[in-house]
Amino acid sequence: CGIVGYVGRRQAVEVAIEGLGRLEYRGYDSSGIALIGADRALTVEKRAGKLVNLRSVLAARPAPPATAGIGHTRWATHGAPTDRNAHPHTDCEERIAVIHNGIIENFAELRAELENDGHKLASETDTEVVAHLLERFAGDGLAEAMRRVCRRLEGAFTLLAVSVDEPDVVVGARRNSPLVVGRGEGENFLGSDVAAFIAYTREAVELGQDQVVELRTSGITVTDFHGAPAETRDYHVDWDA
Ligand code: GLU
Repeated sequence: CGIVGYVGRRQAVEVAIEGLGRLEYRGYDSSGIALIGADRALTVEKRAGKLVNLRSVLAARPAPPATAGIGHTRWATHGAPTDRNAHPHTDCEERIAVIHNGIIENFAELRAELENDGHKLASETDTEVVAHLLERFAGDGLAEAMRRVCRRLEGAFTLLAVSVDEPDVVVGARRNSPLVVGRGEGENFLGSDVAAFIAYTREAVELGQDQVVELRTSGITVTDFHGAPAETRDYHVDWDA
């Protein structure tokens, strides 16, 4: 339901939790984060219930320093609102983590195909197929893997992914579901709406339909699902947060 992504020098966990707090007004049933450290370790924490549940996990078990992070609040459509079905979801090797808003209409067919290939899926969500499909294309780099996966998806989705192979990158994609970029200096943000990053920057970039964005500390690259450079529109957020 709510999505945050961050790359930069700040503690990604703090940016993610701050952003999720600002997206709480949208309503949700679970929340979670994934962080990639400079040591290329993936940390995932997720809990059913209010954000306070996730906060208490992080208070008991502080997150390691991270260069990239993603955060999610879930409004369950496929699979009960449990810890296991909360996002992020990972591939079998736990090298890639994914969060998703929306519905992947053809997930059952994709799930059957993945299970046939030996993938073990851990949740009941439509989302988890994306993590396993990204794993299949991981050798191409995360952004290209995302483009290849999106070409196979039907439905409405905002997707964010991180990978231990690219500790300074967050990749996002959208089709019929909102995703906005926040531009900072030496840091960049993604959000399902600008509230996700308004505490840090007011310089936003509107993405078009069927686009993939690669977020790095040095800048953003936006393409369509086939890799062609895409048009974006920069704007300034001038409402009071
Ligand atoms: N369809 C996904 C799920 O049920 C994402 C729901 C959402 O938009 O939060 O897990």
